[in-house]
Amino acid sequence: MIASQLVAPMDIDVSWSDIAGLDGVIQELRESVVLPVRHSDLFQRSQLWRPPKGVLLYGPPGCGKTLIAKAIAKEASMRFINLDVGLLADKWYGESQKLSTAVFTLARKLQPCIIFIDEIESFLRVRTTADHEATAMMKTQFMMLWDGLISSNSCSVLVLGATNRPQDLDKAILRRMPAQFHIGLPLENQRLAILQIILQQEQLHPAVDLKRLANLTPGYSGSDLKELCRHASIYRMRQFMRNLLVMEGNAIEEQIVDDNQLVISMED
Ligand code: ATP
Repeated sequence: MIASQLVAPMDIDVSWSDIAGLDGVIQELRESVVLPVRHSDLFQRSQLWRPPKGVLLYGPPGCGKTLIAKAIAKEASMRFINLDVGLLADKWYGESQKLSTAVFTLARKLQPCIIFIDEIESFLRVRTTADHEATAMMKTQFMMLWDGLISSNSCSVLVLGATNRPQDLDKAILRRMPAQFHIGLPLENQRLAILQIILQQEQLHPAVDLKRLANLTPGYSGSDLKELCRHASIYRMRQFMRNLLVMEGNAIEEQIVDDNQLVISMED
């Protein structure tokens, strides 16, 4: 298998409406990446402006980088190749070069297409003299393949990298990603918006105060908030199961619905 995952846009389950609190970033990505792909015929005429062939999303873990990458593919109707960097790094001398070539060839065939590289710094980190010869060659070749995309005006393939450690990336790589977006830890109003999205399908107990929860969770990422809600629902579900066991046989339906409501408190 040459890429860890290849997904068609219709099979991507994330769109802009699933991402909370990042309206500014989304607006910029719509303008700089999505619209030029959706209206490529208009944008290809310009000799002066070309859509970026490299985009970097950087920031702490769990704040929505992968969500954004998938939503771009969905909104721009692009195929999505989720490149497993471990797969490239683990290969024997020469094999990783073949894999890189195959990935870029596939992306060109499937264009418009995104090559998504999570933890891009683990693969394209600052080059040092201690680099193994095969590693150095792999990086150089990867950049050459990338340059092939950059020089082609009509090619609609985007390399989209995500990292928690942008400082570890090779400067030559950063130059190839002119569009860079910091996706930071959410502020209080962003946390509230994320909680509202995470819990939109849940039946909440009337006592649940999401504003207060957002206020009590500074430093939480979107992923932390999801985990918090998940724990609360497991806790509640356990209580519900216990009640259900007690009531089994003579359950009062109304009571069950009541007990099934999700209560979230920081004490839980
Ligand atoms: P990592 O650096 O660890 O790969 P990441 O920045 O790519 O993390 P995601 O995988 O996009 O983070 O987010 C993890 C989960 O956290 C998402 O599936 C989603 O449930 C929730 N989440 C994070 N940020 C947001 C957000 N801004 N809006 C809605 N949900 C979010």
